[in-house]
Amino acid sequence: MNRADAARLREELERRGYRATREPDEARLLILNTCVVRQNAEDKVIGRLNSLKPLKRDGQERALLVMGCFVGSAEEGQSGRGLASLHQEYPFVDAFFPPSDIAGVLEYVERWDRERGDGLRCGEPLTAPEVSEGVPISYGCDHHCTYCIVALRRGSQRSRPVADIVRDVQDLVARGAKEIVLLGQNVDAYGSDLPPDAAGRRPNLSAVLRAIHGIEGLWRIRFLTSHPRDMTQEIIDTVAALPKVCECWELPVQAGDDVVLRRMGRGYTVAHFRDLVQRIRQATPDCALNTDVIVGFPGETEEQFERTLALVRELRFDMVHVAAYSPRPGTPAARLEDDVPAAEKDRRRVLIEEVQTEIAAEINARLLGRQVEVLVDGQQGGRWRGRTRTNKLVFFAAPGDWLGRLAHVRITWAGPWSMRGEPAGGDPED
Ligand code: SAM
Repeated sequence: MNRADAARLREELERRGYRATREPDEARLLILNTCVVRQNAEDKVIGRLNSLKPLKRDGQERALLVMGCFVGSAEEGQSGRGLASLHQEYPFVDAFFPPSDIAGVLEYVERWDRERGDGLRCGEPLTAPEVSEGVPISYGCDHHCTYCIVALRRGSQRSRPVADIVRDVQDLVARGAKEIVLLGQNVDAYGSDLPPDAAGRRPNLSAVLRAIHGIEGLWRIRFLTSHPRDMTQEIIDTVAALPKVCECWELPVQAGDDVVLRRMGRGYTVAHFRDLVQRIRQATPDCALNTDVIVGFPGETEEQFERTLALVRELRFDMVHVAAYSPRPGTPAARLEDDVPAAEKDRRRVLIEEVQTEIAAEINARLLGRQVEVLVDGQQGGRWRGRTRTNKLVFFAAPGDWLGRLAHVRITWAGPWSMRGEPAGGDPED
C-alpha cells in the first residue's frame, strides 16, 4: 500500500512538472512515507528521520514531509499522540500527513514551491509505470485485531468508488502496466462502507474485478490482502470465473488455535479457516495460497503454538509470512503482559520458517520440467525476472527484450523461493 501511494505521489508530482532524484541530498523536497506495523518498522522510520536531519541544516532550502502510519489518521489525532507532539519531537520536519493523504501533500508542495517562485518545476515527461502496479481500492480497516496498530493509524475503512478505480487502472494500463494489484487492508471487505444502490446492493470486490476485467491491454489482476472473515463464496467464484484474475490468495490465518484467535480478536475459528481453504482450492485447484502468522502473542503456550505449526504442515501454504508479536502502543494487546520471551518468539518463528521452507521447496519441485507462464517485470543478475500467475519468482536467460512480456518458461531448477528455466520456444516479438 505504501509503495502504491509513493508511486501515485511520484506520478502526480511528475504531472505537475517535478522530477525525482536518486539521492536525498540532491532533493529540495523530501517525502518520507512510513509504516509502523511492528516496532522494527517504526525504529527504521526514526533512524531514517535522524539520517535526513542534517540535510535540513546544510544551507539549502528544503522541505521535509512525513506521511503514513507514523503520523496516524485524523481520527486518532484526537486520541493518539497527535500532531503537536510530533512537531515537538521532530522540529526539523516541516509537515506531517496521514496515511495515503496524497492530495494533502500535493497541496503543500505546490504552495511551498509557489511561495519560492515555482523554481522546482522542470516539466520532464512522466516515468513509465512498472509492469505490475498497485491500485488501492480501500483505505483503513474496520476490524479490531487486538494486536494491530494499522486500524488505529489508518482509521476506519473507506472504499473508493468503482468508477475511480476503473479510471486509475485504465490510465496505468494505457501507459504500459500489464498487471494490476488491487490493494486494501482487507480487499474482500471492499464496499461494506459504501451506500447501497436502489436495489439495496453495495458494490463488492467481485464487482470491482468484473469492472476492470474487460480493460484491453490488462493481462493480469491480483488482489491483497483478504481477511478470512470477509471472504465470500461470491468472491471465490468470481476469481475462478475470470481468466485475468490470478489464482493467488493472500489469506492471513495468524494462529492455528481458537483461543489465541479469539484473544487476537480475529472473529473466526480454525474450522472456518479450513473450510475457506477447502472451498478456495476446490474452485481454483492450481492456486497458490499465502498466509501470515504471528508467533508469541501474549499468553501463547507451547501447545497453542504447536497447533499453529501443525496447521502450517496440514494446509501446505505456498508462502507463510511469520512475524514475532510486537506490542504496539494504544492496542488492547499492549495492555497484556508480553510474556513470551524474545528468544522463544524467535525459536517459534524459525521453526515455522523451517517447516515452510521444506513445503515450499516440495511445492515448487512439482513444477520441474513443466511450462509456466511468466510475466517479465525486470532483470536481475544477468537474467530476466518474472512471476507466474501464482506469484512465484522465475528467472531465465534469453536474448531480446522480454520486459513486460509473457514468456512461456520450462522450469529446469526449483528452490523454495525461486525457480529457473528456459524459454520454451519463440522470441519476445512472437
Ligand atoms: N487482511 C490482513 C489480516 O487479515 O490480518 C491484514 C494484514 S495486516 C495489516 C499486516 C500483517 O502484519 C498482519 O497479517 C500480521 O501478521 C502483521 N502484524 C500486524 N500487527 C502485528 C503485531 N503487533 N506484531 C506482529 N505482527 C503484526
